[in-house]
Amino acid sequence: MASEFRRTVRGMRDLINEEAENLRFIEQKARKVSRLYGYKEVVTPLVEHYELLAAKLGEENRRRMFVFEDLGGRKVALRPEFTASVARLVATKMQSAPRPLRLFSIGSLYRYDEPQFGRYREFWQANYELFGSNKSEADVEILALTNSLLKEIGLKSYFFKVGHVGILRSILSHDGIAEEQQNSIMQLLDKKQVDIALETAKNAGSSKSSLDTLETLLNIKGRQSDVVISEIYEAVKSYSEALEAAGNLSEIITMLKAGCVDADLLVEAGFARGLEYYTGLVFEVFVVDMDIAVGGGGRYDRLIELFGGGQVPAVGAALGVDRLSLALQKQRQISQRSEERRILVVAVESSLFGQAFKISNMLREKGVIVELEVMRRSVSKALSDADRRGITHVVIVGSKEIKQNMVVLRSMRERTQEIVPIEHLFERIMQ
Ligand code: AMP
Repeated sequence: MASEFRRTVRGMRDLINEEAENLRFIEQKARKVSRLYGYKEVVTPLVEHYELLAAKLGEENRRRMFVFEDLGGRKVALRPEFTASVARLVATKMQSAPRPLRLFSIGSLYRYDEPQFGRYREFWQANYELFGSNKSEADVEILALTNSLLKEIGLKSYFFKVGHVGILRSILSHDGIAEEQQNSIMQLLDKKQVDIALETAKNAGSSKSSLDTLETLLNIKGRQSDVVISEIYEAVKSYSEALEAAGNLSEIITMLKAGCVDADLLVEAGFARGLEYYTGLVFEVFVVDMDIAVGGGGRYDRLIELFGGGQVPAVGAALGVDRLSLALQKQRQISQRSEERRILVVAVESSLFGQAFKISNMLREKGVIVELEVMRRSVSKALSDADRRGITHVVIVGSKEIKQNMVVLRSMRERTQEIVPIEHLFERIMQ
């Protein structure tokens, strides 16, 4: 086989050792948070109709899909996000499910992005969607849940960037700017191409005063949310719908704080997200020292209607598992996590294997990770390999000790060993 085929396809990765472990660790925490907040897991296909996925994705993401024709001649694509699939479910099979409907999904997504630090063509997301409520309480729940997940996995020093596309869109709508044009302006703002965004708004027919208002908004941001909100009110005072949107953002922040969610918030009036379907709150989560977002989300009240499911307001969050894993590694939380005990049980001679096996199972039943020596290596060989395998304790089963229901317990970290009664082995290991 030619050597290039032994490498993974560009943008695709093998996850081994800690990378695979981190992925599953975050997945497990994401699932735990979904249960705690009452979100039911749904599993949707990796391959969907191109048209469904393309419907409201935004031009840039549309161009980045892995699209192909299946053997039946259907134009299909690998999912670049969960929202379209989940929205399809809500508009069809789950149309009569009681509201509010809380759904969770987790798995791999595919985007033909340019590979770089934290950006891959195959990546994982944990996704939470809340359908049926257009009230601020639902937005607050999504923000609080995101915060819970970040805490649960042990992430420190992160902040939420929050904005409201309703504020920006109302100003454009005020001058009759079509939704399509608004979408491109939002995408330009998302990419921080402010001048081109304003130019596009001007060419689309924005009045001088609206352009001035937009420009003012784009400069309003800060961590003191009450100050920022009053600046926004002042900037949009002659646009009634924008005032309403600002009121909504203000209510969400106030309720979040009233619920004692201590998340660090950076409120940014000019913050827009590239996906076309957002209608209200938008947010992203950033980790200090890493200038890529580990997650994001927002409100999308019209997407379900687009899929023929009637008017179902919705708000959701998507957390990038790969980036959370990078952030954790950066903050060295993972090494603390590996404080967990990892045991190797070695029988001094093969006639004692049955005893070693029993002791291993006794520990496993108590939730301890146990590897059993299965290569009949000598104790000294097994010990010299134990360090490399991240083993914290070795249990040596010898004939002399076992006659007295004892084993030798060796701590790999402290390089000490002692003879311990089997009935106290678990307690000694956990000390
Ligand atoms: P989005 O679905 O674009 O709102 O993205 C939500 C989160 O998914 C981002 O904040 C990232 O953490 C993650 N994400 C998006 N694209 C990629 C990618 N190409 N590689 C790794 N993670 C990604």
